Amino acid sequence: MHEVSIAMGMIDELTRIARENNARKVITVKLKIGKMSGIVIDSLQFAFDAAKLEYPLLNSTAIFIEEVPLIYECNNCKNTFKTDDIYFPSCPGCKSYNLKILSGEELHIENLEVEV
Ligand SMILES: [Zn+2]
Repeated sequence: MHEVSIAMGMIDELTRIARENNARKVITVKLKIGKMSGIVIDSLQFAFDAAKLEYPLLNSTAIFIEEVPLIYECNNCKNTFKTDDIYFPSCPGCKSYNLKILSGEELHIENLEVEV
């Protein structure tokens, strides 16, 4: 499962940040995940909650995930639009497939709260 390796990557990253800040615990983490990333948010949450138990720094961490919608701009008519179609999106105005992605590819830690 893709989400398990992402959860493990997050754990590495959070551990590194917590150590840099001499934190004893990470209390909350806010993530931004674009729809285009293909990540199933429920699966990631589940994978993280299962994996975190082995890490004293993270075993009580709550994660909050914000899904960023997929937004394109049409290179043909400059229309911007939101879509759920991650494979073959086309402009609802002129039907062009010549699009530029504006948001939806995000996968990052937005912020975190630690106890020092
Ligand atoms: Zn268009």
